Formats: sequence, structure tokens, C-alpha cells
Amino acid sequence: MIPALRHWLHARRHPLRYTQLDQLLRNQALSRDEVLEKQRRDLAGIVAHAVAKVPYYTARFAGLEGAAFRNLPILSKEDVSSRLDDLLARDADRAQVKLGHTGGSTGKPLAFWYDEAKHELMRAGMMRGFMMSGWRPGQKVMYFWGARHDTVKGGVFGGGWGAHLGDLIAAEKTIAAVEYSEAKLHEWARAIQTWRPTLLYGYASAMSELARYILASRLPMPESLIGVYSTAEMLADSQRELMQQAYACKVFNQYGCREVPNIAWECRHGHMHVFADLVHLESVAIEGEDRFLVTSLSNRLMPFIRYDIGDSGRLLDGECECGSPFPLMEMGMCRQNDLIRTRAGKTLHPSCFNRLLYGMTQIRQYQWVQTEIGRLTLNLVAEAPLSAATLSSLRDRLRQEVDAEMRLEVNYLDDIPRTAAGKHRFVIGLK
Ligand SMILES: [Zn+2]
Repeated sequence: MIPALRHWLHARRHPLRYTQLDQLLRNQALSRDEVLEKQRRDLAGIVAHAVAKVPYYTARFAGLEGAAFRNLPILSKEDVSSRLDDLLARDADRAQVKLGHTGGSTGKPLAFWYDEAKHELMRAGMMRGFMMSGWRPGQKVMYFWGARHDTVKGGVFGGGWGAHLGDLIAAEKTIAAVEYSEAKLHEWARAIQTWRPTLLYGYASAMSELARYILASRLPMPESLIGVYSTAEMLADSQRELMQQAYACKVFNQYGCREVPNIAWECRHGHMHVFADLVHLESVAIEGEDRFLVTSLSNRLMPFIRYDIGDSGRLLDGECECGSPFPLMEMGMCRQNDLIRTRAGKTLHPSCFNRLLYGMTQIRQYQWVQTEIGRLTLNLVAEAPLSAATLSSLRDRLRQEVDAEMRLEVNYLDDIPRTAAGKHRFVIGLK
């Protein structure tokens, strides 16, 4: 199918997404000053909405009328988890609202509310981000998504996707990149060669494991590729170089999370641009690091205001030669987690271990530690111990999804120690 026809069919199938994309592209045509002016208005608008319509903020911001934005309280992951119901707007249509889950890159499972319009805006934002590479709607994108959850209906990413026909029209293919056996890596490399996508999108760890395999096996990548997007994890320079060599195209970093997507995207000149029409980003000194606080400007269903997302980085002055009006930022060190390897030779992505704990909201913090090749320890800080049934189903899923021989030990702790850099590591592999 030719890209123009695909684009037309896809736009007919997702009118809301394309209307939102048009609006986002108009925002991108504004000047820097106009973008910042719009951001100030939107920020005041979302705070006023939250105070008026969202029980959590009505109570939390009481008495703070007229306070400067930087003096408003910070929203922690703990708050999101313990006050989930109070964070939903009173006027939300509960029949339309869905609950999304994230493993939480900082080691705490998190649930959040979303609806179809939020999902479509997220996808429109991603399309605009992809367009910064030269990609155009209708051209193929192959997603290497860590969570199998997301490739079926019910995931925030999967929601609203049709079945196979939808993927064909959308020019999208999703690969469940949870484990990296040699056979899987070969299969994925072959899929890229035969399907000939324009872009690849996936976790830094998945994309670089595949890159290593491609280089070692001397598999040529198709000339159709113009970019590889790395998401959800810290992208190390060594991974970027490896990927650029293997895929023979540019590597782009992308920053955001499930609950607040589309925070920043890298342009062709290698700069991270904050999507200032969708989010407001601050960098604030907390516990000795420059911590990002993000505010979603579009989420009226479940407002995130000064949300401590658990990452660090800085906002940068200056313009970029790419011409984007969006301001610049750089990531700090964060999200360092390990792969888990099994006796049978499988390698598993950390997200796989997040997913095992989805929905267990009594867990405040967790950390998986591989102590021997066939043994995992799960350290938990929890409001109540896991029930016998939960524990037994967790053991079953470990045997099915990780390794038939894998043994599990659970420890309950008062606190999980952080690394020297203050980061929570939620998966620690064998050294
Ligand atoms: Zn730029």
C-alpha cells in the first residue's frame, strides 16, 4: 500500500488523532515567545481547572490562591498511588474512563486514569515527534515494546488499535520485545529486513541488544530506515553509537512516561526539545540533584501538576538551528536497571519484572535481585504482605514467563536502599 493512501485511510479511521495533530503542527509554527505565552495561559488554566474540579487539588491547594506556581505543592508518585480516586475530575465520564498501569521506572507500580481522547492526543504527539526525523504520516513504524500487555487490547498503548487490518492501515507493526534469545533477535532483524520500516521505536536496551546481534551477524539493514527512537530508559552514548552503526541511520532520544507522555523529543540536530504546548517542565534541586517536575497542560481528566516523575536533568537556554520553537533540555543520569539472564540462555528486560507486579497497589517499593542464576529475591516495602494466592500466582508466572527453574524468595523491608546517586534500582542482575 502506498504511503499517501495509507495516510488517507488512517486519517479517516482516527479523525480525532489527525485533528489534534493539525493543532499540534500549528503550535509548532508559533514563535518561541508565542509558545511560552500560550504555555503560561494553559498552565493557569489547568491549575484553575484542578482546583475547581479535582477533589485532590481542591483540598491540597486550599488557601494557596494567588501563590506563585513554583510554590505549589509537589505531586509525588506516592500521592498518585494513594489518592488515585481523588485525582479523577468530578465531571469525568466514568463509563469512558480507563485505568492504565505502569511498572514505574523508579520502582513503584502506578495506576492512572485515561480515556480515548488522551490516548489519541498521545498518538498525535508521537506523530509530531516522529516528524522531527523527516518521517511523514503513512510511512512505516516498527515498535519494539517491552510489555506484552501493550500489544493486546487493554494497554494504554494498545487501546484504540484495531486488529491486524488497523495495523496495516496505520503502517505499524508491534513486536513484543520482552526476551532476547538469539532466535528472537534473528527473527526481529529479519522482520526489519523484509518489512522495510522507515522508523524503529523501542527501549534503549532492546534496540541496542538487537544492534549488537545485527553487527555480529553482519545483517544489512534496509535503506528505508531513517531513524531509530529510543524511549523509556536512559540512552547511553555507547548504546547510541552501537545502534547508529548497526541500523545505519540516526538515533533519536525520546522522553516521557505513560502517565505524562510526550515530554521531550530529539531533533535532527541532536537537541531534546520540550513539547511546551503539551507540558510544563521544571528542574528543581531536590536531595542534591536537579529533579524534573512535569505538569501536563492537556490532562483535565487527571491533572498532573508539579509531578515528581523520578528523573533528573536540566533546562537549557538558547535556540536550535532546526527552527523548532520548543525550548531545550538535557537528561541527567537515571533509570539504571539490569537485564536478567536465565540458565536456559534467555535475557529478560527489566520491564518484564515491573509487569509481574501490575495491580498490586499495596506495594510501596520493590526491587528484584538475582542472587544466583536460578534464584530471584523480591524485596518489598508493602502496606500488607502478599496473600498466599497472590504469591502462588506470582511464582507460576515467573516459571512461565521467566524460567521454569526460577526460585523466588520474598523479603519485607522497611526501606529499600538507594544507589550512591540516589536512584532506586528496581532490577539488579548478576554481576
Ligand atoms: Zn532542534
